[in-house]
Amino acid sequence: MTAQMTQQPQATIIDGKAFAANLREQIAHDVQTLKDTHHITPGLAVVLVGEDPASQVYVRNKGNMTRKCGMESFEFTLPADTTEEQLLEKIHELNADENVHGILVQLPLPKHINEFNVINTIEPSKDVDGFHISNVGKLSTGQTAMVPCTPKGCLMLIKDTLGEDLSGKHAIVIGRSNIVGKPMAQLLLKESCTVTIAHSRTRDLESECRRADIVVSAVGVQEMVRGDWIKPGATVIDVGINRIETSDGKGKLVGDVAFNEVIEHARAVTPVPGGVGPMTIACLLQNTLIAAKAIHGI
Ligand code: NAD
Repeated sequence: MTAQMTQQPQATIIDGKAFAANLREQIAHDVQTLKDTHHITPGLAVVLVGEDPASQVYVRNKGNMTRKCGMESFEFTLPADTTEEQLLEKIHELNADENVHGILVQLPLPKHINEFNVINTIEPSKDVDGFHISNVGKLSTGQTAMVPCTPKGCLMLIKDTLGEDLSGKHAIVIGRSNIVGKPMAQLLLKESCTVTIAHSRTRDLESECRRADIVVSAVGVQEMVRGDWIKPGATVIDVGINRIETSDGKGKLVGDVAFNEVIEHARAVTPVPGGVGPMTIACLLQNTLIAAKAIHGI
């Protein structure tokens, strides 16, 4: 049989749900140790402004998971017409609260509130989302930083698949947002990958993709990344969450990646749902534990 006729075996499906469950178990164990040895209970405050139903679900899930790991959850829902000053006042209050080690403001915020002002008011040591300018700067200069949860989770899945040493690998990050694309690129750069950041203005995205050993897609366009964009044996991480209509009217979630095509080319691929999603909350809990320890000098 010639090489061309050799069939590429189907990709491994990366089980983010199981990985995240193990991580949460480890965190719960470490939280208990912290309580036993130092009598400290890590606390996470989540602030939601307005009544966006999707955000309400996220906040509820975060609260439940936080409590399940043995930490304290403080949830604040403020009305949609909350002023920026009122929100900043709430953040100052949480910055000063000794029971709160992590502060998360659910994004997006209503249009009349400046997101950057809010994020940059959070005490950097409590900035468990890693969006404060000080943490962004530290990450991009290779200093110890609070790392944004979604890219942090993606890197864990990549390393679980490819091993700890990623140096020299070609990586493409599709999407350049502050919350996923840019920090993801920084993390891969820190691992000595050769990183391409692609976005809506990138020319010939397919060819850029075909050179990559690692593809991370964080765009929000359903099944945009096709099977023949993928270099044989590449690892594909699908961050995208897109809700589509189904004939039964229930709708379902799909990623940025055409999963059934990509699985024929990749070495490993994350599904949607059950891939990156569960890792984001697990990493948020891990960041809260890290913050609690750091604040107490442990
Ligand atoms: P965003 O809208 O801020 O950024 C999207 C990026 O995609 C932009 O940088 C844009 O340039 C790029 N883009 C748009 N169209 C493109 C195209 N045709 N080709 C190439 N690039 C294109 O989004 P975000 O907040 O970074 O989120 C991206 C996706 O990831 C969304 O679907 C979001 O729901 C999902 N998400 C998932 C998690 C999770 O936990 N799984 C967390 C955050 C975001």
